Amino acid sequence: MSIRPKTHPTTILSLLILGFVHFGVANATLLSADETPSVEEQARLVLANQLPIEEVIDARVWRAMAGGDIIGNGGGIVEQRMFAAFKDTFRLVSQCLRNLTCPINSVDRNLLERVLQVARQNRHLPESLIFVSSTTYPLFFKDPETGLVRSAKTGFRPELPVFVNREHLYHNGQPALSSAELIGLLVHELGHQAGEANHTRLDDLGARLAAWVLQGGTLIERRLLGQQTQFQVINPKSPDEWPILWMGWNSQTTPLSSLARAQVQCLESDRTPIGMELSNVHWQRESLANDELTVPISAWARIFCQDRNAMVIYEDRDVDFVVTIKRPWTPQPTISTQIKWH
Ligand SMILES: [Zn+2]
Repeated sequence: MSIRPKTHPTTILSLLILGFVHFGVANATLLSADETPSVEEQARLVLANQLPIEEVIDARVWRAMAGGDIIGNGGGIVEQRMFAAFKDTFRLVSQCLRNLTCPINSVDRNLLERVLQVARQNRHLPESLIFVSSTTYPLFFKDPETGLVRSAKTGFRPELPVFVNREHLYHNGQPALSSAELIGLLVHELGHQAGEANHTRLDDLGARLAAWVLQGGTLIERRLLGQQTQFQVINPKSPDEWPILWMGWNSQTTPLSSLARAQVQCLESDRTPIGMELSNVHWQRESLANDELTVPISAWARIFCQDRNAMVIYEDRDVDFVVTIKRPWTPQPTISTQIKWH
């Protein structure tokens, strides 16, 4: 959530005139066509905060950073959840813009429309999120004005990665950021890519959007076989939308939204399901047999069904998400989910 001010050409010029002491630093940000540093060198300069992110044109630099050669991008639970949240941000922002209950004024709306455009453009980027350790690269997340170490940063144009501070994702091995905070953080960074420089304004917008998104949503948590286990439901804001669902166990996050959506049926065959919301989400007793841990999660589903006359009728059903986790528990258990309707 920090942007290094772009070095203005006049600044570089005056630094050059003032003396050669500054020459090294100023020179690092000057990328003329014939002396563009190598991909690896550009990655090194970005991490040393000597090359502004938005000045990097060659996407191979991000690939080099995300590929693990330089940073080592592992996949803990928060990292995985963040990738899922990144994909959902487009949908959540567009839901907010279409819904009158979303707490935004006309100025926010304008900014959020630009954020939506950026989210749409960035959805399929191969290197959308890059995790960097602020311990290994102490200058990268440091705000030059306040000296604060930020949780994330990016540059002032779309199609750039969002860089996330790995040291801020966990506290004593447990996830340090809630789903709301992840959504808020991503909206903040996409806001920078949409051209907004004000961190406070973006913090505020991100927090309001995240609070609105999670209103009426549910996160249930417990420990199973000594591992943190979570089931998250983010309900939609209108009857013709679908909930976002995922299950987390140990370091693995399993998205369930598409699976649930594919299996929803209306009781009458001439009705089409157009949306759903879940409430009363709760754990059932787990069972352990034959190296398989079975964890049922129950909920009340309200399915919105449209008939041939475009009338929308809701049907209330009970649903179980039966999650099966197979040994070996670590590092990569096999997790599968069955959905049972009653
Ligand atoms: Zn910021």
